[in-house]
Amino acid sequence: MKIAVSACLLGENCKYNGGNNYSEKVKEYIKGHEVISVCPEVMGGLSTPRIPSEIVNGIVTNKNGDNVDMEFRRGAEAAFRKIIANNVDLCILQSRSPSCGVKEIYDGTFSGHKIKGQGIFARILMDAGIKTIDVEDL
Ligand code: SF4
Repeated sequence: MKIAVSACLLGENCKYNGGNNYSEKVKEYIKGHEVISVCPEVMGGLSTPRIPSEIVNGIVTNKNGDNVDMEFRRGAEAAFRKIIANNVDLCILQSRSPSCGVKEIYDGTFSGHKIKGQGIFARILMDAGIKTIDVEDL
């Protein structure tokens, strides 16, 4: 099986704060499978570390109030093309990210409140019918 994984879950330091979300559970699950690593935010040209962003009224906006929607969408499209080009069977994504969140995201107030919804990349995958799961549901 070909499995795409949020790069931060594989230990890549591509998270907004320069860290990662390494998951031992993911490492075990993907053993013996072909793994494709994707970080849509890095693919969109955003630097690491970067100012955290949330989806505010449908527009990805960073905590300083700058509109970063174009970078997020460009990165999500590039990551999606990589998924399609590799005929990926399953995507495992990091929770609550404005790009990768599958079940819920932050509500756009930068206050830690969560709402049901998807990040930009996860939404594209799900709309395309690609099996996509939140790492918490692994
Ligand atoms: S965009 Fe996705 S892969 Fe990249 S750091 Fe955020 S959650 Fe991880």
